[in-house]
Amino acid sequence: MSNDWHPRTKAIHAGTRRSQYGEVSEAIFLTQGFVYETAEHAEARFLESGPDEFIYARYGNPTVAMFEDRIAALEGAEDAFATASGMAAVSGALTAMLKAGDHVVSARALFGSCLYVLEDVLARFGVEVTLVDGTDLAAWEAAIRPDTKAVFFESVSNPTLQLVDIKSVSELAHAQGALVVVDNVFATPEFSKAIAQGADVVIYSATKHIDGQGRALGGVILGTRDFIRGTVEPYMKHTGGSMSPFTAWVMLKGLETMSLRVRAQAASAQTIAEALQGHEALETVIYPGLADHPQNALALSQMGAGGTVLTLVLKGGKDAAFKFLNAIQVGVISNNLGDAKTILTHPATTTHQRLPQDQKDLLGIAPGLVRISIGLEDPQDLIADIRQALTDL
Ligand SMILES: *Cc1c(COP(=O)(O)O)cnc(C)c1O
Repeated sequence: MSNDWHPRTKAIHAGTRRSQYGEVSEAIFLTQGFVYETAEHAEARFLESGPDEFIYARYGNPTVAMFEDRIAALEGAEDAFATASGMAAVSGALTAMLKAGDHVVSARALFGSCLYVLEDVLARFGVEVTLVDGTDLAAWEAAIRPDTKAVFFESVSNPTLQLVDIKSVSELAHAQGALVVVDNVFATPEFSKAIAQGADVVIYSATKHIDGQGRALGGVILGTRDFIRGTVEPYMKHTGGSMSPFTAWVMLKGLETMSLRVRAQAASAQTIAEALQGHEALETVIYPGLADHPQNALALSQMGAGGTVLTLVLKGGKDAAFKFLNAIQVGVISNNLGDAKTILTHPATTTHQRLPQDQKDLLGIAPGLVRISIGLEDPQDLIADIRQALTDL
C-alpha cells in the first residue's frame, strides 16, 4: 500500500490480505481460531517474541485485521483496534488507559452511554471526572490539571451540534501531559483530520457512517502503535469486546462507498438546512455548515463541511415535534445516524429521555428539538417532505 494514496484509494485498497484463491472481494474468515501444524509451532506462536500471526479471534482475525489496517490508513493513525460496538470502543479505550486516582476532564454534551461510562462506571472505579462546557476553552484550561490523565469529548455534540476545537483543547491537554481522546462520530472519518489537529486517540462508532446502511454494530479505536498494541489490545483481548469477522466484512464493504455516501449526505444536509432557514414554524435550524452557526468557521477549518446531521427546533414544542414526526413520509423515526435512509429523532423523549430536566436545559435539548440524519434520498424530496410536515402545526 502506498502512503501517498488519496483517501478514496486507501478506502478501497488499504489493508487488503488476499488468500491463496486471489479473491477480489475481501474474504470473510469466519473462524474463531487457527490450526498449528505442530505442537512446536503452537508453542512458538504463544511466545511474546513469536511470529505475529493469528492465534484467536478475540484479538486477531484476518478479516478484522483488514478493517483495522484500512481505517487506520484512512485516518492517518499508526494502528487501530476494532470493537463490537462504538460503546465497546469508548469504554475500552478509557478503561484500558485509566486507573483509580486518575483525573479526566470531559465535555458535558455527550451521547447518553458515554456519559454513563464517565459518570457511573469510571467513578465507581475511583476515577475523578470533571465535566465542562466543551465550547469554552477557558473552562478546559481551568479544569485540566497536572494529574489529568485524559480529556474526552465528542468533536461535534449530539444533538445540538456544538463543536469542540480539537487543536486548541489538544494544546491545553498536552501542556499538562494529558492524552486527548476524541469521539469523532459526527465528524465522520471522511471529514476527520483529528490526529493532525492533535488528538491522540480517535474513536468511531462504525455503526454510523462506516456501515452507513443500518446493518451492524461496530466500533474502532485509533492511535499510536504503542497505545493500540501496548494498552488497548491487552485490555480488549482479556475482556472480550472485539469485533466479529462478519461485522468487519460489512464495515470493509461500507468503507468502499463511505466517501461518496458521506459527501452526498453532507451536500444534501447543507442544501436542506439552507432551504429551511427562516421557516415560520421553526425557532431555529442548527447546522454547522450554515454561515449563522456560531462555530461555522471552526466547522469549515476542522472538518471542511457541516456534516450529515442537522437539528431543527420547532416553535410549538413537543406537540409540534410529534405532529411533525408523525407527518413525515420519506424519512423514518428511529435513533441511528449516518444511514442511507433519512432518520428523525426526538432526543428529549428518546435518546436523552433519562436526563433530568436541568441537564436537558443545560444542554439545550428543548422539547421542540428534532435531530435529522440526512440520508441518500433526493434532497428535493426531503425538502418537500419536511415542508409539508411543518404545515399546520
Ligand atoms: C452511536 C454513538 C456511540 C455508540 O456507538 P454504538 O455503535 O451504538 O455502540 C458513541 N458515541 C457517539 C457520538 C455516537 O453517536
